This record gives sequence, structure tokens and C-alpha cells, in this order.
Amino acid sequence: MPQKLFGTTGIRGLANDLLTPEFCSKVASAFGCYLKEIGAKNKKILVAMDTRTSSEMIKNSVISGLVSVGFDVFDAKIAPTPAVQYSVANGFDGGVMITGSHIPPDRNGMKFFMSDGTEVYGYIEEAIEGIFFSDKIKRSNWKEIGRVFEWDINKAYKEMLVKNGMKGNLKVIVDPGHGTQCLIMPYVLQELGYEVLTINSQIDGFFPGREPEPNLKNLGDLISIMKELDYDIGVAFDCDGDRAIFIDNEGNYLMGDVTGCIIADNLLEKGDTLVTTISTSSLIDYVAEKKGIEVVKTKVGAADVVAESKKKKAKYSFEENGGCIFMDINPARDGGLTTVIMTKIILKKNKKFSEILKEYPKFYQIKEKISCPDNLKQKLTEKIKEIYKKDHRVRKIDETDGVKVFLDDGWILFRASWTEPIFRIFVEAKSKKKADELMDEGKKIDKILKNM
Ligand code: MG
Repeated sequence: MPQKLFGTTGIRGLANDLLTPEFCSKVASAFGCYLKEIGAKNKKILVAMDTRTSSEMIKNSVISGLVSVGFDVFDAKIAPTPAVQYSVANGFDGGVMITGSHIPPDRNGMKFFMSDGTEVYGYIEEAIEGIFFSDKIKRSNWKEIGRVFEWDINKAYKEMLVKNGMKGNLKVIVDPGHGTQCLIMPYVLQELGYEVLTINSQIDGFFPGREPEPNLKNLGDLISIMKELDYDIGVAFDCDGDRAIFIDNEGNYLMGDVTGCIIADNLLEKGDTLVTTISTSSLIDYVAEKKGIEVVKTKVGAADVVAESKKKKAKYSFEENGGCIFMDINPARDGGLTTVIMTKIILKKNKKFSEILKEYPKFYQIKEKISCPDNLKQKLTEKIKEIYKKDHRVRKIDETDGVKVFLDDGWILFRASWTEPIFRIFVEAKSKKKADELMDEGKKIDKILKNM
């Protein structure tokens, strides 16, 4: 077992490999003990899960772990992660979401939240790991073992989304990808008066229609339907519903950061601060200059973005993968809020989605990944840095997270994933040809890795 449990987002692994009932229960107990150490007042924790085949098993293990250290558990069953984060602030000491988010169906994970709905990060993760590995779990005596209650959070979450949306005439296709948003978004968009068509909208842990990640490869059906039929916008979600990816009325796939930038342009005003990660498109620098917005770029991962947003009092922030955060409403990446705010922008502008997109300069991005064993990630990162430090073409190297190399006509970001045994390569350029060239160059690290 690794000595570090937490990756970029919570704890993830293969179901019944890392994520056995014993392991998940012990981690949950360690989380409960940590909350008691910092003075949890109400002894109440909210727990929910995504639609994976392993989620119910893990959820029951987590619940056992929590009640064994004295917490009453409120079981919200299947719900999106942003619904959990929105609801935790109503008197809970913390929350746990059982989800593998966008990763393949054989894997799963656990995300942990504090009483204000923000995800645990940094020193809190270390404290929980400390309790876990030192076996300092204090079980309750028989009189203080917690109880379990059923608890609905989806109704309040739906009401919040409707409140933040705009009623109007819009035709929308929703692809929740058999995940948690099956229970939410088709109904919210109908409530807003839109004409709604759904695909992959039945809960199914085998994901028969498509894999959970809402990327270009997996959204082929949604894109084809958007091209064929006359709909204004298509939206797809990952399994836990914190990320929304849009398809325009002509069937074009929008990268998550393009969405993030359009919302920034329409929501923020001069002097506002926006937080995003270093993997975001340079389009945000264009929008920032146009609007007079200050942009802060952090490491990749929602927890870092939210923590920085809190510090900078930023009302809006986003990640390049389609996770937008509206801090004033919900301190979470929220695919539902992103959708109702994007449809509001289209209605207010009274333009076709594709016309709105044409108002922005086009950047070409390519995202790839190569397999990389965990024990070689650090060494590979050092090697890449060493190579580019000697390269005369390089204008700047940013080491906020991995190695981001700025060249005259684009950039390459090399970054180890801490949730999967892979190494990510992102490139961006102003032409497709240059982006292809940069990706060919980036992928050469595969050779370096093979010689290590
Ligand atoms: Mg997710």
C-alpha cells in the first residue's frame, strides 16, 4: 500500500484492489477521527455515491467506518458531488462522496469535504494519512456508536440550479453518461422551460453508452446528434457531475477552458480576480486583458483552485477540464451550475452558440497521455526540466505543476498524474499544424522513459 493516500482529487484506485471494504472503512474512520480532533460539533456526516458497480459496497464500508467513531451518517444515496458540497454546509461536520469521477468503471474513489463544503487538501490530507498509518483510530464505546439516516439532497440542489438559471426557449440535448446527473439536469432544464432530449440518461454502472470521461472520443454520439438535429446546445457530464462539457449548435466540441473563458468574459468585471490552473488555454490571458481581470494560476486540482479562490475572494474560477466554480453559490466544481449559467449567457446574448464562439481567437489544443509507472514520474519530470533548460528556443519554464515550457508560438505542459499511472502532455498553439508538431515533440518523452 502506498504511504500517501491522497492524489490530485481525493483517494482513487481499483475497486477491490486498493479500494477494499476494509481499506475504505479505515480511511473513513481516520477522517472521522480527524474531524473530532478539530472539534466537530454536530457529529453528523453527509455521504453520497456515484453510479459505479462498486459504489454501494464502498459507501457501506465508509458508513461503517464513520459510525464506529461516533458520527451519525446521513445517506444521500446517488447524488452529484456538487450537490454534496452544496448541502454539507447545512449543519454537517463534513461529507464523503464515493466516486471515481471521470476515470474508467473498474476504478472508484472517495472525496472528503469539510463543514463549509470545500474539499480537504494539503495539511488536512496529511493529518488524515497520519491517523490512518499510525493506527490512532479511536473507536466509540457501544453507547456512542452513530446511527444512519436516509437523506435527500437532490431536491435542494435542483432548486438552487433552477434559481440560478434563466427561463426561455432553448433546445438542449443532455448526455449524463449514465452518471449522477441523470437524476438532476434533465429535470432542471425542463423546469427552465427548455426542450430537452436525453441520451445515456439511465443510471448504469456498466456505462453501456459511453465511458465516464466527457472527452472528444467518448462524446461521438452526442456530437453526431447535434450535427444532425436542430438543437441549440449539447451538454455532457462526468460520472459525479462536477464537470460539464458543451457541444455547440453545429456539433463542435468545446474544450473545458473555452467554456471557462466565455463564462469569465460574461460574468466578471474589471478588477475582479479569477483563479485557474496552469494547464488552462492562453485564451484566458486574452479575456483577462480585454476585461481587466487579474488571473491567478495554480496547480491542477479543484482543491487547490478552491483554496486559492477563498484566499483571493474570487467569485468565479475554473479548471481546464470543464470544472467551473462559482464560490458565491457553491464552493465546488459544479457541472450543473456551469450548464445553467452557460444557457443563461446564450439566452441573454440572443445569439447562436456557434456565433458566440466566433467572438474569440482560436487556440489549438491537444491533450495526450502516456503510461508511466508511479515510481518513475519524479525522475521523468527532472529529466524533462534538464533537457528544456538547455534548449535555446525556450522563453520560460513554469514549475507550478510539472514542467510548462513556453516556446515562441505555443506551449507544452508535461505533468504526472497522481491519480493514475500516467503522464499527461498538453500542448497549445495558434495553428493546428504547430499544435501537432508540439505534440510530436512532447511525445518523445516516451522514448526517454523507456531508456530510464
Ligand atoms: Mg468529476
